[in-house]
Amino acid sequence: MSNYGYQCEWCDGTVREKTLAREAFRHAKGFVILEAVPVGVCDKCGRKYYAATTLRRVEEVVLHREKAERTEPVPVAHV
Ligand SMILES: [Zn+2]
Repeated sequence: MSNYGYQCEWCDGTVREKTLAREAFRHAKGFVILEAVPVGVCDKCGRKYYAATTLRRVEEVVLHREKAERTEPVPVAHV
């Protein structure tokens, strides 16, 4: 069951399914890194599309930290 293969909203590229080893998500209440994240990636502009279930998981982990596998300090820097 793949929801990918549709046209990118931002260009005429195609969104393809990809699994990222790790991906950082910013949330209003914190910052989370998920591992083995399935995402849709445009093969032209590289824009990422996240599934609703992935975003729900981010929310879950942010709001209930005990559900996280482990916690790592995340370095944040101003550019
Ligand atoms: Zn695109």
